[in-house]
This record gives sequence, C-alpha cells and structure tokens, in this order.
Amino acid sequence: MPAAAQVALKPGRARAFLHHHPWVLEPSIAWIQGNPADGQEVELISEKQQFVGRGIYNSRSRIRVRLYAWREDEPLDAEFWQRRLDRALALRQLIGYDQPDGAARLVFSEADGLSGLVVDRFADYLVVQITALAIAQRLDAILPMLVERVRPRGVLLRSEPAMAKAEGITLAEGVRYGEIPAEPIVLNDGGLRYRVDLAEGQKTGFYLDQRENRRTAAGYLRGRRVLDLFCYTGAFSLAAAAWGEAAECLGFDTSARAVELARENAAANGLSNVRFEAADAFRVLERYAAAGERFGAVILDPPKFTRHRGGLAEALRAYHRINRLAMELVEPGGVLVTCSCTGAVTPTDFFQMLLGAAQQSRRTVQILEQRGASPDHPVAVHVPETQYLKCFIARVE
Ligand code: SAH
Repeated sequence: MPAAAQVALKPGRARAFLHHHPWVLEPSIAWIQGNPADGQEVELISEKQQFVGRGIYNSRSRIRVRLYAWREDEPLDAEFWQRRLDRALALRQLIGYDQPDGAARLVFSEADGLSGLVVDRFADYLVVQITALAIAQRLDAILPMLVERVRPRGVLLRSEPAMAKAEGITLAEGVRYGEIPAEPIVLNDGGLRYRVDLAEGQKTGFYLDQRENRRTAAGYLRGRRVLDLFCYTGAFSLAAAAWGEAAECLGFDTSARAVELARENAAANGLSNVRFEAADAFRVLERYAAAGERFGAVILDPPKFTRHRGGLAEALRAYHRINRLAMELVEPGGVLVTCSCTGAVTPTDFFQMLLGAAQQSRRTVQILEQRGASPDHPVAVHVPETQYLKCFIARVE
C-alpha cells in the first residue's frame, strides 16, 4: 500500500486537533506531502512528525483537512463510516427519539464525529444535507448503510448552495432513494400534527433543535396572550396553545409560504386561537412598541444573524434591538422566550446582551431557564461550535 499523504502542522498548532477538533484551517499547515487530491484521505502530523489524526483533504475549502479519526490504526474505510453511523443512531435510541411517525436528527455533523453530514428523519423519510466534499464523495457508500439501518421510504438530498460552492461540491439536489412525496408530509410531534415540506422547506423542513424548548416554554404560557416572532410554520405557537393552554397566539414570519403552512398546521390541530401573518419581525416589534401594546409573553426565534466571528458585533446589536423591544412589550410579570442560533454568539455573549437590553428597557429580568438544543443535537465538548443554540426563558417585571 502506498504511504498515505501527509499534512504537517506548524509548531504549537497540534493541541486543538489532539483534543479532536476536526477543522484544520490553512494557516495551521506547515507543509503537505504526497500531493493529495481533493477528497483523499490524509494523515495529520505534528511538527515532530507524530501522528495527530486522520482526515480528508480539500484544497478548495477553508477547512483544508477535516479530521474523522484519531487512532493510528483506524482507516477511513467502509467499516469506519458504518461504526460512526451506528454510534449516531444508537444515541437517538438512547434518548427515545424513535417514534415511527415522529422526527429526529439522526446525524449532526461534528457533534456526531461526521463533519459535513446531517441526516434528519421525518416519519418515513430521510433528508440529507452535505456540507463537506469529503462526505459528498463518499455518499454512494454511506447512503446504502443509512437505508439499510433506518429503512426509510425515501431519501432526499438537500444542498446549501453557499456551502457547496465553498467546498466544491457538485452533487445535485433530489431524491436519492425510494420516493419523496411532492406534497408536505404530516409529522407527529408529541401529538401535534405538522405539515412539513421536505423539498421546499427551510433547512431540512422543520426546526427539530427547538423541540424540547417549545415544550418547556409552553409550560410558562398558560392563559397568556403570546407574540411569536420568527414563527416559521408556527411550532412555538402551536405548542403554547395546545400544551400550554395559552389564551391566544399571534405569529409573524417574513416567509409567506411558512405562514401558509403555519395556518394549515393550526387548522389541522383544531386550534382557533392562533393567528399568523407574513411580516418583518423588526417592524412588528417597532409598531407594537410605538402603539404601547402589551403581551403576556413574547417569543423571539430569529435566524442566524452572522456566520462568522467577524460579524459578531453587528449580530449582537441586532439581538439587543429585538430583545430590548420585546422586553418593552412584555407586561409586568410576563414571560420572554429568547433564542439565538448564531454559533459565534456564546451563551455568555447572549447573557451580556440581555443584561444590556434589560438596562435600556428599564425592566427587571429574571432568567428562569438557560437551555440549548434538543439532545438529538448533542454538544461535542471538543467542538465548541456544536453549542450553537441558546434558548433563555425569563420573567420580565
Ligand atoms: N420558531 C420557528 C423557527 C424559526 S427559524 C420554529 O420553531 O419552527 C427563523 C425564521 O425567521 C424563518 O422562518 C425565517 O423565514 C424568519 N425570518 C427571517 N428574517 C425575518 C424577519 N426579518 N422577520 C420575520 N421573520 C424572519
């Protein structure tokens, strides 16, 4: 067997990778030997030529090497991918996310040691998202393993154009196995029925990471009038109305298609006290604040405000703005459910932002719960980026 191509680190750069961080960026690299092709397996070595890990090379990506294994005797062969998949699937069984008509994230990229692969199960269907050339090139091997273990009726491949470009992935979106219905499918989330548009929906169709947060938040909303901003297909409102017995929910999202599905979801669950409108959440907040309107609870679940640390300050200003306005809108003793899925914003940053917003709005804020994503989106301790979701539940006096 020819010797594996090698990528050597600059002095003092090995620590994060010895601790299993999988992203080797260009500035950490001293030299490359063996002329690896994009997508080829390489060994990462320290400046003292010691083995650090095994990964896959991509000259086009900012992430030159994605590491997958840290044992010298562990090649990235078919059995390796099978073991990693099985480990991910076993976790979802452990946490009990295995209802046949329910949903779960089965594989969550770095959090499951499979950098660049996301697999969501929606009832009988799988939606696969690939964000690494390494995985794209091995999809023909990995997909049959998934199908064999999960036995779905269909597998849909979704692509994220920006990521595909950054990685040089040329895989086309589309049905990769079995059939995918053209119409939205119906998902059962703890007794609530959701229509999920697999082919056209955002991300992979439904925000599974907020599932436990919606349930917990609902418990604080009994009898309250709830403003649900960035509502997508209405899941926080539906949970609040059905499980939390909120008096009334008003949801806003800029996506007309999401609002249409939100209305259908409300009707399908027999909930007549939830309403949805297409509108910009920033404008809605300003309008209600100017009108002196008050709500028993406000929910904020905006999209990512930045993708990189360079955008952090601006992102925090946007969080500050919506949280300050939301605090103004909450009646004394009311509830604020405020979320951030921006990975660059740490829980500490988010906390500081809330402090600033509380001071400016002259409200007393008590944080009741500081939550993260559902356990099918685990946090890998060695990859801080996997702790991306913050969901704080607070009382505002
Ligand atoms: N709360 C939802 C998920 C929200 S995802 C759930 O539990 O399912 C973020 C949403 O914000 C997306 O649906 C997106 O369409 C919407 N969005 C983005 N910018 C917006 C804006 N300025 N005003 C309102 N909605 C916006």
